[in-house]
Amino acid sequence: MSTDLTGRAVVLGLDGATWDLLLPLAERGIMPNLARALEQGRHGRLQSCLPPFSSPAWMSISTGKNPGSHGIFDFWEAGKPGERRLVSSRAAKGKKLWELVDDAGKVAHVLAVPVSYPPARLEHGTFTCGMFTPGEAVDYTWPPELKAELKALPGGYRADPYADGLKGAAFIEQTHEVIRQQEVATNHLLARGAGWDLLFTVIQAPDPLQDKFWNVLDPADPRYDAEHARRYLPALEESYRRCDEVIGDRLAMAERGAFVMVVSDHGFGRYEKSFYLNKVLEQEGLLHRERSARKVASGGLSTRRVIDAVRKIDVLGLEGRVPQRFREKLAHGIDSALAVPIDMQRTLAYAAASSAESVFIADHVPESQRDDVARRVIDALEAARDPDTGEPIIDRALRREEVYSGSELHRIPDILIDFGARPYVASDRLAATSIVERLPAAAGGGRHRRYGILLALGPGVQAGTIEQANIVDLAPTALHAMGLPVPDDMDGRVLAELFSDGRAVQTSAAASSETSEVVYTPEEEAAIEASLENLGYL
Ligand SMILES: [Zn+2]
Repeated sequence: MSTDLTGRAVVLGLDGATWDLLLPLAERGIMPNLARALEQGRHGRLQSCLPPFSSPAWMSISTGKNPGSHGIFDFWEAGKPGERRLVSSRAAKGKKLWELVDDAGKVAHVLAVPVSYPPARLEHGTFTCGMFTPGEAVDYTWPPELKAELKALPGGYRADPYADGLKGAAFIEQTHEVIRQQEVATNHLLARGAGWDLLFTVIQAPDPLQDKFWNVLDPADPRYDAEHARRYLPALEESYRRCDEVIGDRLAMAERGAFVMVVSDHGFGRYEKSFYLNKVLEQEGLLHRERSARKVASGGLSTRRVIDAVRKIDVLGLEGRVPQRFREKLAHGIDSALAVPIDMQRTLAYAAASSAESVFIADHVPESQRDDVARRVIDALEAARDPDTGEPIIDRALRREEVYSGSELHRIPDILIDFGARPYVASDRLAATSIVERLPAAAGGGRHRRYGILLALGPGVQAGTIEQANIVDLAPTALHAMGLPVPDDMDGRVLAELFSDGRAVQTSAAASSETSEVVYTPEEEAAIEASLENLGYL
């Protein structure tokens, strides 16, 4: 195992990891390898996309392009309401890091990168899909026979084990097993064949753990739940300890000459309240409900009350017998049945369930008026105040052109919302009576934040901090570390400050790439959506 790894690149993704949790865990001795790595390497925050969703973020990491260039904005293709088609690995424009490495005749091993199904058919390396794999029956590895090899390993292998929808302690314990199992699989890949040049693996666990247990993991959360902490914290810390074992393996690779980046697709923080975008737009006269329906709604039956009643099915002792998924679906069904439909003819701007944290300007608004409508939307959202605190609810609202650029910009909603570190989550619900509503504290309540983590390690990487790094910079930086040219259509830059050898960045003409349409059957799509719901992504 003492092979010299000079010229090789390693990316380790920790989905949703944030320094706000990792630094205290390193200090408290729960993540000792991370503590050592922080002393040796350079670390800083890593800017994600806006809104910071996992799906576009992983696409930006793997393509080096912003969502305006790769065309993926959330879990669904195109942003149009009513046309929800889940994204696949083939939906993004642009060659992915592993394809470029493969084209250069080098060996890439990729494992469990989210939204990577179907598998890339690499000529020299291997590919194993992660989250968004529609069940165990499909071919999720390349070459296809690799699946049987992984399953034959001690402990076996599954592409999307969290699709089981386990809850509470059972879910946390499952993450322990999955993190180790993935590392067993990774070691198998590295030992397979003659050698390797790029290793790219992702640990998914931090994202769903933080989604469900933020008020246990963060002692600074005002909703900190001491009772839950007693029950869950030891197991949660064990999950991070297992992440740390993997960081230890990667640190050892850096010590043998590899260039290593430990990264997350976005950060995390608490949220306590829903922010009803359509309610604000309605108050501003930008959104109108159908007239006949408004009478029905003002008749007194509150949708919220009905949904709460459905959620209380638990109280009746049905927990365990009625799956959460089913109850949520029922609640949403009742919500949409009672919610007053938007009168699209008269509406100028609206938020849609298929693209949260954003606003669309209606298609019928003529070009000459779109700037004015956008300005009114932005002003209204930025002026909105939380009735409880009198504080602004969002940091900023931005037109998509201010954030992104590229040939796919038209697929992105017109206005994007930046909550900063404020504790809100956007909702398109129209049934609300107020513009904000407090969520039950027991929900745990962690949500994505724009700044994730970057930690770079390896020969020539000086200890210290790094500023101004963006997720689109990771692919060009990995290519540069491997001595490969950076295609000129990548939006990111080589993080040259990480390298002390002063080697010039080489560029090459953009390689053509193909995208293709949906690859999921309706049943597969339903299974993936159910899994995303269970994990708190939806
Ligand atoms: Zn994520």
